[in-house]
Amino acid sequence: MAQDSYTQHCRQEADTAAFAKKLAISLQEFFLLHPQGHLNISLEGDLGAGKTTFARYLIQGLGFSGRVKSPTYTLCEPYPLIIGNGKSGRQAHITANHFDLYRMRDPLEWQEAGFAEHFDEAGFCLVEWPNKAEGTLPAFDITMQLTSGSDEHAREITIHAISQESINILKSLFSKADE
Ligand code: ADP
Ligand code: MG
Repeated sequence: MAQDSYTQHCRQEADTAAFAKKLAISLQEFFLLHPQGHLNISLEGDLGAGKTTFARYLIQGLGFSGRVKSPTYTLCEPYPLIIGNGKSGRQAHITANHFDLYRMRDPLEWQEAGFAEHFDEAGFCLVEWPNKAEGTLPAFDITMQLTSGSDEHAREITIHAISQESINILKSLFSKADE
């Protein structure tokens, strides 16, 4: 059976950046094959664990060159992305929606704010603090847990594939993780 979880030890922020870049490449491969596909990815962990930092490296790793700010006050920040270089003739226009639900006062605030449709768009949703929605979110394809280590810059990142298509994404990630 294909492995469905993987843990990456990051000794410094550059390791986190490198791991996010590898996931970006695996997601890129997925969206070139499935330009209309959608994935839900959770980012779990304490304040300061590195959820926003990981999301920033991931979104930039997918080619976004602008600023990736924390969606703490807006709940959601959308990032339009063009995947593929066009040389091969393959391109996908997708949106990364980066959520931070920490400040929600009600589990359904994300729906009332009109964000439900983002969960059907071509692309993916990255959700920090999904537990604030108390089970009202669509199912996750991938869950990620970030924990701080003993050292100030050390982090451990565990990634779990839930859906079949995300198991394939992880398979591609494993092959890069050993490089
Ligand atoms: P969260 O979104 O989980 O609350 P942030 O990403 O906002 O956390 O903050 C994490 C902080 O930790 C940032 O200031 C980042 O520069 C720092 N940091 C230090 N080492 C790492 C690492 N290995 N991975 C991620 N962030 C790190
Ligand atoms: Mg954050």
